[in-house]
Amino acid sequence: MKAVNNTKLPNDEQWHAIINNDSKLDGQFWYGVTTTHIFCKPSCPSRLPKRDHVLVFTDPQQAIKNGFRPCKRCRPLNRIVNKQIWVDEIEYTLKTNYQRKLTLNELGQLVHGDPSYLRHTFKDITGMTPRERLNEIRLTQAQHLLQTTQSSVSQVGREVGMSNTAYFIDCFKKRFGKTPLQYRRTKSLKPVPLSKGGQS
Ligand SMILES: [Zn+2]
Repeated sequence: MKAVNNTKLPNDEQWHAIINNDSKLDGQFWYGVTTTHIFCKPSCPSRLPKRDHVLVFTDPQQAIKNGFRPCKRCRPLNRIVNKQIWVDEIEYTLKTNYQRKLTLNELGQLVHGDPSYLRHTFKDITGMTPRERLNEIRLTQAQHLLQTTQSSVSQVGREVGMSNTAYFIDCFKKRFGKTPLQYRRTKSLKPVPLSKGGQS
């Protein structure tokens, strides 16, 4: 990370407050995490960073000037975060992480938000829970892979983060009315171009 002006590492008292989510020092200092570029109040309940990734600021504007973004969970600027911003961030995180196992708690850690609040807000704005949206992203991607690759059904399932093949087939059928294999067959009905000799 580039050089940061006017910042310092936490002293023992500050680090202690961060570990204990101690609100007594809220308003006296703010801390940024150099790996995420997010800054927080001492009392923030987000996952504890490593001490050597923490920088301390004496006011929130100093954090912003150094390229840190306010945490949406503890809201160090005391501003309400627009719901659409949450939704955009969740959507982005689902689309970039759908290939791996992703629980609501992990999603909360990735976007720095309280899991039940995230679920509620996402559903409120989009009509879907994050889990439903994640499945939708996975199944749409599976359609694409079935059409464009020769991967087996279980490989396709694994590639989209659904390693339980029976569950994958079940979800796929519920969503599209066909099993993955039926889907692949109907999508490859186009005539196969003949090879030069007319034989294949
Ligand atoms: Zn925070």
